[in-house]
Amino acid sequence: MKKIQMVDLQTQYQALRPEIDQHIQNVIDSARFINGPDVKSLQQELADYLNVKHVITCGNGTDALQISLMALGLEPGDEVITADFTFAATVEVIGLLNLIPVLVDVHPDTFNIDIEQIRKAITPKTKAIIPVHLFGQAADMEPLLKIAEEHKLYVVEDNAQAIGSEYRFTNGRVAKTGTMDTMGTTSFFPSKNLGCYGDGGAIFTDDDRLAHRLRGIVNHGMYKRYYHDEIGVNSRLDSIQAAVLRTKLPHLDDYNEKRRQSADVYDRLLSDCKQVILPYRDAKSKHVFHQYTLRIKYGKRDALAEHLKEKGIPFGIYYPVPLHMQKAYKQDSFIHKNYPVTNQLVQEVISLPIHTELELEQQAYICMAILDFLK
Ligand SMILES: *Cc1c(COP(=O)(O)O)cnc(C)c1O
Repeated sequence: MKKIQMVDLQTQYQALRPEIDQHIQNVIDSARFINGPDVKSLQQELADYLNVKHVITCGNGTDALQISLMALGLEPGDEVITADFTFAATVEVIGLLNLIPVLVDVHPDTFNIDIEQIRKAITPKTKAIIPVHLFGQAADMEPLLKIAEEHKLYVVEDNAQAIGSEYRFTNGRVAKTGTMDTMGTTSFFPSKNLGCYGDGGAIFTDDDRLAHRLRGIVNHGMYKRYYHDEIGVNSRLDSIQAAVLRTKLPHLDDYNEKRRQSADVYDRLLSDCKQVILPYRDAKSKHVFHQYTLRIKYGKRDALAEHLKEKGIPFGIYYPVPLHMQKAYKQDSFIHKNYPVTNQLVQEVISLPIHTELELEQQAYICMAILDFLK
């Protein structure tokens, strides 16, 4: 059996090696390392794939979030609602811009932002909501968008973990995650569902004016060469990364399908175990399994993790600490309420290896180790 890895980027590369090498070589030969033609082409190809009007690439997924918020022109002290159970980048950028992060609890099934909690957290200072499509499954966008419309709030979807996922509205309309309201962002960090070979990110929007503003902000607030209308940042996707992403993008749906199939296999192999809660599949969302995350009942998560370690099976605890408990954030006055769901999830979740190269034999071995321990 091949050594089990949390993510196997080597084998994925081997399958595309001649194409990727050639594409990288072409960039080097052209010496157009910054804002070369590959960056433009990638933006167009991503826009076509997502069915969105504008794609603005940038340096990473955290920058994408920060730049999106900058483009909204919010005032210091404005409140932005996001989930307590997510990667810290989401709340970090809110704080960096002197906005007030208002953390709300998540839903115990989907681990995504709890719509009822959003309702309770809205104040006259609330300006935006950042739903995170966590682990590859869409947040419940239809009621969320309704609340946003009622209260005239911007919605910036953090789609770093769910590119290629979809959400189905009750009227049958299907939209790609990251494209359903004001803006969406993603990350091309190597282990994400569409990853490059370094750092990268992008912002999506249908709004022409916002797109113009985003293009200025990523480039030092410069709208005309050497005329700086506002304070921006320097955040760029390299041409070499764009070349890698252009080679991988046509395979994204296959990659996501492979992840879904691997998730089905885990579901099947673990279905009889009463001590685990399998990942919930929201019928409105196409889950693209950035992570395959179990909940382990009866306080056995940490002991199971220890057992997997002994067996040489990698795993992840995403996330071990709720954001409201993080040292960087816990002093702030934005702590809204208590967070019973997040507090429980951080003690129960464990993510198993899932990637495009996972083999049945490996999954059988992983599940055997789990079942053996939890019997
Ligand atoms: C990975 C990730 C980010 C940040 O992306 P980087 O490219 O690492 O900056 C932001 N939000 C979520 C939910 C993520 O998973």
